[in-house]
Amino acid sequence: MEVRIFDTTLRDGEQSPGAAMRPSDRLRIGRALDRAGVDVIEAGFPAASPAVAASVAEIAAVVKRATVAALARAHDGDIAAAWDAIRRARNPRIHTFIATSPIHMEHKLRMEPRQVLAAVKNAVRGARALCHDVEFSAEDATRSDREFLVEVFQTAVDNGATTLNLPDTVGFTQPDEYRDLIAFLRRRVRGSERAVFSVHCHNDLGSAVANTLAAIRGGAGQVECTINGIGERAGNCALEEVLAALCIRRDIYDVDVRVEMQAIPALSKMVARATGMPLQKNKAVVGANAFAHESGIHQDGVLKHRATYEVVPAELLGRRAANLHLGRQSGRHAIRVRLERLGYSFEKPELDAFYRSFLEMANTKREITDADLRTIAGRIPAPQLAQMA
Ligand SMILES: [Zn+2]
Repeated sequence: MEVRIFDTTLRDGEQSPGAAMRPSDRLRIGRALDRAGVDVIEAGFPAASPAVAASVAEIAAVVKRATVAALARAHDGDIAAAWDAIRRARNPRIHTFIATSPIHMEHKLRMEPRQVLAAVKNAVRGARALCHDVEFSAEDATRSDREFLVEVFQTAVDNGATTLNLPDTVGFTQPDEYRDLIAFLRRRVRGSERAVFSVHCHNDLGSAVANTLAAIRGGAGQVECTINGIGERAGNCALEEVLAALCIRRDIYDVDVRVEMQAIPALSKMVARATGMPLQKNKAVVGANAFAHESGIHQDGVLKHRATYEVVPAELLGRRAANLHLGRQSGRHAIRVRLERLGYSFEKPELDAFYRSFLEMANTKREITDADLRTIAGRIPAPQLAQMA
């Protein structure tokens, strides 16, 4: 089975507080996502402003392979603005949505459920009259009544929606529950096998990636995510983490994805720079420490066999090798290997002397660099030092 990767870095991701990007950066990211093999790029919400609409149109014009989606509330005006922005895309998609949970219908929309159903019908039908590819989202699906969701998605399918998305808008659901919801809707919505079920997770309880992966096992054929997991509040499901899990645990998921893992580090840096949101060091897959080892036991293990402490081969991400961070927890094995790389070869007594000096320095510095190692080596008495060529 194939799982489509729908990237919403340029729409939901940009809704991170303070993450607004320049149009030129948005364009560069759109191109890079396309080259990386992302299936759908959600380029923005054109009804938000003329500037957003212009940026979406610019991205739609340059993307070569991916589908370009634009978001629209279930209003005629939004749908017209979305279509206007993406009509020149090679593969355009209108993505329309309305909230379906009691709390959103009552307090935000101030609409009765039957009015919401009428809006779904009108929006999907109107979008389908313009574009053959229409995604419908039931906002706050995970806090909606299940029987009502059946009616909502039945209406969407009957009026021509080709993708049915169940957003976990507030990051509330948990893996088993979400997987079960997808399986329930696949069973209950007649004709839904003609459409693709999609998931969209937020990370308020730290469960976005786990929920997305569980949904794939429940039959989701599209996952919505962002680079570096940026997005409203605690963010969205991180694209790179889902991708790594699908690649490394193929034995469990057994699905095909088109996105190239090697393209991820550059995309991650590009998005961090464009949004001004630097990555935490211990961020999975793309953090600076994701392939770094500090303790002596781990470094010794990695030097003997990388897989002892690394489940993601660094080469998958276009990285060369594990990064052995030298600090006060490092052991002799890692230090000896690093010294050899620098051209020093010590016999055991010299290595012991070196190690004592190393520990002294490491107690006062967080990281010992190659220059520090050379300084210490320079202090080891000359007769004991056999420097190689
Ligand atoms: Zn969202």
